[in-house]
Amino acid sequence: MILRLNLVQPCGFNGEHMKRIYLDHASSMPVDPRVFKFAKPYLTKEYGNPSSLYSPGLEAKQAIEESRKKIAEFINAENEKSIIFTSGATESNNLAIRGTALRNLNDGKEVAASAIEHISVLNPMKELQKNGFTFKTIPVDSTGTVDLEKLENLLTKNTTVTSIMYANNEIGTIEPIKEIRKIVHGKGRYLHVDATAAAGFLPIDVQDEGIDLMTLSSNDLYGPRGAGALYVKPGVKIQSIMPGGGQERGLRSGTENVFAIAGMGEAARIAKKEMKEESARLRKIRDKLINGIKKIDEAYLTGHPIQRLPHHASFRFSHIEGESILLNMDMYNIQVATGSACSHKTLEPSHVLLAIGLKHEEAHGSVVLTLGRSNSIEQVPFIVEALRDTVQRLRALSPLVKER
Ligand code: PMP
Repeated sequence: MILRLNLVQPCGFNGEHMKRIYLDHASSMPVDPRVFKFAKPYLTKEYGNPSSLYSPGLEAKQAIEESRKKIAEFINAENEKSIIFTSGATESNNLAIRGTALRNLNDGKEVAASAIEHISVLNPMKELQKNGFTFKTIPVDSTGTVDLEKLENLLTKNTTVTSIMYANNEIGTIEPIKEIRKIVHGKGRYLHVDATAAAGFLPIDVQDEGIDLMTLSSNDLYGPRGAGALYVKPGVKIQSIMPGGGQERGLRSGTENVFAIAGMGEAARIAKKEMKEESARLRKIRDKLINGIKKIDEAYLTGHPIQRLPHHASFRFSHIEGESILLNMDMYNIQVATGSACSHKTLEPSHVLLAIGLKHEEAHGSVVLTLGRSNSIEQVPFIVEALRDTVQRLRALSPLVKER
């Protein structure tokens, strides 16, 4: 039995004067005030439909095209036309996978993805499987790195799309995309990369890395929710998965969310300008955090120790539940995650943690801390102490500790 949702009042707890320390940037980010200021007129003043020919429509259309240019520059795309705006990462992943698999049906009915992809990649692949496709899962090692030999062995000339994420949102591991691309292009056809967790923290150059399709999300760049983008390399054969008015080169119908799209472009422009300095700052905080947490009894880092996102620290703690830790940390006004926010609806442990070889009971004790612009190195001692205190008090109540 595992102890669930244990809430224990922290010593000297007074939520009133504890300032919020938000450590869940991988699941949601605040909108940068500069981005909000930039995009706000598209909600209130420039509200024309971008497909309309009168001047407010043309203004809105121009805002979208400017954003497209900024996103293309952000990832060094060949041209602006290779950027398709969507409603977010889930939709971009669906369009990339279903749109290419269905369009290239005559070349093969096989799709592949790593075992640690986000559910918005795995589920479209499972849907295809129900419709007669073969879905191959590429295993990862204990650090979450894709097994290149197995990738080489599993792909065939019938594999039309292979999806491997740039970096994992739950364990922070960065995948060797250039090596993966060589194998995918040598065997199958298109490489789709979900860069939701990595973009804004790592420089990404789609041409240099040879990526065919890439998912981006506005909110993961400090932009508004409700916008995402799919990079489609010129020449990639893809079809729409949502027929309608034919916006976005016919690949994504529906009236565009001009506010969120304009905001996403501005967020990407700012991220590109500030990324080097900000990621170096976050890396220092992350390392101090990891070193502090490692000293807690039976705390184990998950994911790759070196090849990991600069803002990402993830751990598992024996004998206690991630959810209990999350709720107790919230009483210190510190927000952490236990894995992908989307899997909380089921009590199943994260598929990512199982894929790196953890047992069910080990995977239940996971905590993910993702840093952002509001965090500072001065916060680290308080975070570590709050976590140590939480873990000790929960273990004191855990029947699993007594059973040992
Ligand atoms: N891919 C990755 C790697 C993610 O972390 C997420 C969630 N932030 C998504 C896709 C889905 O994003 P959304 O729910 O915003 O569509």
